[in-house]
Amino acid sequence: AKTTTSILYLDGVSVSFDGFRAINNLSLVLEPGEMRAIIGPNGAGKTTMMDIITGKTRPDEGEVFFDGRVDLTKHDESEIAMLGIGRKFQKPTVFESHTVEDNLVLALAGPRKAIPALFHRQTKAERERIDEILQTIRLTARRDELAAALSHGQKQWLEIGMLLAQDPKLLLVDEPVAGMTDAETEETARLLREIAQTRSVIVVEHDMQFVRELDVKVTCLHEGTVLAEGSLDQVSGDSRVIEVYLGR
Ligand code: ADP
Repeated sequence: AKTTTSILYLDGVSVSFDGFRAINNLSLVLEPGEMRAIIGPNGAGKTTMMDIITGKTRPDEGEVFFDGRVDLTKHDESEIAMLGIGRKFQKPTVFESHTVEDNLVLALAGPRKAIPALFHRQTKAERERIDEILQTIRLTARRDELAAALSHGQKQWLEIGMLLAQDPKLLLVDEPVAGMTDAETEETARLLREIAQTRSVIVVEHDMQFVRELDVKVTCLHEGTVLAEGSLDQVSGDSRVIEVYLGR
C-alpha cells in the first residue's frame, strides 16, 4: 500500500461528466496542519474536487490518499466523514429552534444519539469540549440563545463548531464569508487560523481580501487542474491567472 506523510495527496485525478472533463489530471498535496486556499473562476472544478475528497464523486483516474495511507477512492461518503474529513457547505444548516449550546451537544453526540443527548447531563469531558468549541467559534456569550437569533455570520461559525465537535483531521470549507460583514470576515480568518493550528483546512473562496487575511498558500484551479500555486501575491500576479480572471 502507498504511504505518504501528507494529510491529503491527490495525484493525476480526472473525472468526466458525460464526456466533459470537470477534473483533468489534478494533483494537490496538503501537509498536516496546513491551511490552503483554493481559488479559481466559476467552473474551474473547485466543487468537484471537494466532492472527490469527500467521496461524493468517484474519480475515473488518479490517486486520492488521506492521512498517509487511506485510499479515499475505496470509501463512500459516510465512511469518509467518519475517517475524519468534515465538510462545511456554503449555506449554514444549524438547528434554528435549538440553543447554540444544544447545537453543539447534538453535533457531539452524532446523528444516532443526538436526541437522547439533549435529555442527559453532559459528562465533564463533553462540557469541556463544548466550552472549548464555543470559545473557538466566538459564541460563548450566546450559548443559551436560540441559533435562530444569531447573525448569518455567527450561524456559519456555529456550523464550523458543529464540524469541530466531530474532531476532523481535515476540514473543507466552502466560501465561509459569503454574506458576512467585514468584521465577521476578519474574525473568520482569525478563527480558521486558530483551527489550522491543530487540523488541516482547505478553504474554497472567491473573496480575495479574505484570502489575503488567511495568509496561506493559494492554489488556483482552472479547467479542472492547477493553474498556479504559491503565495497570493505570486498567484494573483501570474499572467495566466490574470488572463483567466479577466476573461478571454
Ligand atoms: P467550480 O466549483 O469551480 O465553480 P465545479 O466543480 O462546480 O466548478 O464544475 C466544474 C465543471 O464541471 C463545470 O463546467 C460544471 O458545469 C461541470 N460539472 C460539475 N458537476 C457536474 C455534473 N454532475 N454533471 C455535469 N457537469 C458537471
